[in-house]
Amino acid sequence: MSDCIFCQIVSKHIPAQVVYEDEALLAFKDIRPAAPVHLLLIPKQHMASLADAQATDEALLGKMLLAVPKIAAENGLAHGFKTQINTGVGGGQEVFHLHIHILGQPA
Ligand code: 5GP
Ligand code: ZN
Repeated sequence: MSDCIFCQIVSKHIPAQVVYEDEALLAFKDIRPAAPVHLLLIPKQHMASLADAQATDEALLGKMLLAVPKIAAENGLAHGFKTQINTGVGGGQEVFHLHIHILGQPA
């Protein structure tokens, strides 16, 4: 089994409150929410961080960004939201599996 906590969420070895899933992406509630709505969107395929993304990941990264407003709207944030991607130790990244934070307050 992978020792990556988000890969374990993808493989359902660790439970999570999943709010969106398709063949390539998974979104679930952050375990320590920093806002009333705090979601994490990840690629199912392991990628440590944005700094590890390759040209071959272009379509996947685009898919992630396009999914954000849809997932946000489905979770009460149709009026707007914040996004954050922490990259590397210097960027405060704690879990080294690429994720987009989606944060906001339902209207
Ligand atoms: P980072 O600092 O790496 O950008 O953010 C990692 C996020 O993952 C944190 O906001 C943290 O609360 C969240 N997190 C860490 N472990 C788990 C977990 O096991 N389940 C869920 N749902 N979120 C987690
Ligand atoms: Zn992983």
